[in-house]
Amino acid sequence: MTRIAFLGLGHMGLPMARNLVAAGHEVHGFDLVPAVIEAAGAAGIPIASSGADAATDADAVITMFPAGRHVLDAYQDGLLAAARPGTLFIESSTIAVHEAQAAHGLAVEAGHRNVDAPVSGGVVGAENGTLAFMVGGSEEDFAVALPLLEVMGKRIVHCGGPGLGQAAKVCNNMVLAVSQIAVAEAFVLGERLGLEHQALFDVVSQASGQCWSLTTNCPVPGPVPTSPANRNYQPGFAGALMAKDLGLALQAIEQTSTDAKMGRLAQELYAAFAAGDGAGRDFSGIITDIRDGRV
Ligand code: NAD
Repeated sequence: MTRIAFLGLGHMGLPMARNLVAAGHEVHGFDLVPAVIEAAGAAGIPIASSGADAATDADAVITMFPAGRHVLDAYQDGLLAAARPGTLFIESSTIAVHEAQAAHGLAVEAGHRNVDAPVSGGVVGAENGTLAFMVGGSEEDFAVALPLLEVMGKRIVHCGGPGLGQAAKVCNNMVLAVSQIAVAEAFVLGERLGLEHQALFDVVSQASGQCWSLTTNCPVPGPVPTSPANRNYQPGFAGALMAKDLGLALQAIEQTSTDAKMGRLAQELYAAFAAGDGAGRDFSGIITDIRDGRV
């Protein structure tokens, strides 16, 4: 049994913490929002009086916050100082690569272990313990983190040194955004050429254009009955989260002077989608904006 501080008990954090409890670990949680604390308490997570309080005596501290500034603020506002030297800090929020590296530097300077371990798989993956973890950090720290990650996830990839878990996450989501836009454009073009959705699906899903954005997240209703298009684009993966992740990709593109024209354009299109009515809709709903010429 490991004693774990789990900080950030929102949509993702609470089900992840519950899986750790179910696996027999001693979890002490904390969040800033009273309603979230109440829900976590009702779900059987003991709540500490602060993040620092939860971290005292913990073997591992897991953070699942909205953005990088929350992580860096918490690390510097007493969290690192409260933990015993050598504590493992697992940072699972989706944050910029440079922020993950800064967080790593602060943790190491304070005498701790640290890995960045962002996830994909959404709330359903968090609930079912089937998340994919992309991990950045030393071999040694990865080995210490692995048994806990295996409780919360199914596919765990050590991507390299500090920050490279976040690097893999932004690269994957850039591919995803570009392919979802390409699939949406193909359906709209097909409509204008007189192609039935099902006919186009039957061809592309068995041909070289095949991809997840088509075969799982098909942006038109019909061909894939479980895709969000069949439930009025209820997410799934919300446009606001895709816009956030592409903002992080853009930071990485600019910091590395990478000539990523498709990635930059995808970031612009999803920023416009999220600023319109797309923030709360599944990101495949961008097809309606493309059809209407709104992005
Ligand atoms: P959320 O907003 O539901 O939860 C984040 C929680 O962190 C909030 O309850 C907030 O009050 C809490 N928090 C912020 N600062 C804190 C602090 N100092 N101490 C304690 N608690 C603090 O967000 P979420 O949907 O659970 O996502 C969490 C992270 O996971 C984000 O970085 C997101 O990009 C990433 N992510 C989300 C999904 C998804 O489908 N929701 C999928 C993959 C990755």
